[in-house]
Amino acid sequence: MTFRQNVITMYIHSNYNIITNKIFLFLRNVITKYILSNYIIITLFCLAQPVQALEFYTPIEEGGLVFGRLNNEESLYIHDTQIQTDSNGFFVFGIHREHPENIHLKLKKHHQAQDIILPVKQRIWPKEIINDLPLDKVILSTEDKERAHQERDLLARLRNTTDYTKIPDTFIRPVPEATRISSSFGSCRILNNLVVSSHSGTDYAAPLDARVLAVADGIVRLAHPDMFYSGKTILIDHGFGLFSSYSHLNHILVQENQSVKQGDIIGFVGSTGRSTGPHLHFTMTWFHIRIDPEQIIHFNFSTLKSRD
Ligand SMILES: [Zn+2]
Repeated sequence: MTFRQNVITMYIHSNYNIITNKIFLFLRNVITKYILSNYIIITLFCLAQPVQALEFYTPIEEGGLVFGRLNNEESLYIHDTQIQTDSNGFFVFGIHREHPENIHLKLKKHHQAQDIILPVKQRIWPKEIINDLPLDKVILSTEDKERAHQERDLLARLRNTTDYTKIPDTFIRPVPEATRISSSFGSCRILNNLVVSSHSGTDYAAPLDARVLAVADGIVRLAHPDMFYSGKTILIDHGFGLFSSYSHLNHILVQENQSVKQGDIIGFVGSTGRSTGPHLHFTMTWFHIRIDPEQIIHFNFSTLKSRD
């Protein structure tokens, strides 16, 4: 499967003050049009003498990972949080599965700041109706709820600290022997007509003890023997806020703080925790924001980085 990457390049004049809202509204409309027409490569010149560029190489869409580049003297903010860049100005950020129609960014250079509003492509998530689950799997006891909350907090804390050495170039699928995707990212789940939740990752159905691979280089932040929902679980930090997690494993082969390379076998498929059969529940996040794993498989950041 191939993926046509888009490039949106915005040239912004050094004097931010002369860029009016009107121009940005115009740009926003043009960008919307081109994004919707399947990621045609475009370059937007908004003023006669372009001196700064903000580039986006991937679609700006719900549940997506945005890969882009800044000039070195500039910095980019989302809701007052600065986005980290590597030494060449490349950056990534994730977009929530349920995001408003626009994203508000701030581009800063020295003491000047410019607001940038970009459209976010909205996605329609599939619905999954799951009935006949044992009631104790749907309605949790007080103790189970408490345990699940504590484990969720642990994962949230671990996802707050990341390594800023390198943005991964590529990601691979975690289960080479997977027979199919049994549940896709983002699907809206209705359990026994009682509970509605959204699927936080991709489920790969695979035989018991099929190999599970690290999807990119990284450092193991968690190798947990028994979590309430996810059973034997691994969390890997890939840098710049990108984390992958691997759930319901039958065996874990790695330890916390261990470095792993892309393609290393880190464990084997199982059905531990809250699971109805052997599969890998796999998630990708940018810090706490869950992104679609099947989207980023198609990215090759090294190709994009070398395109100047
Ligand atoms: Zn799952």
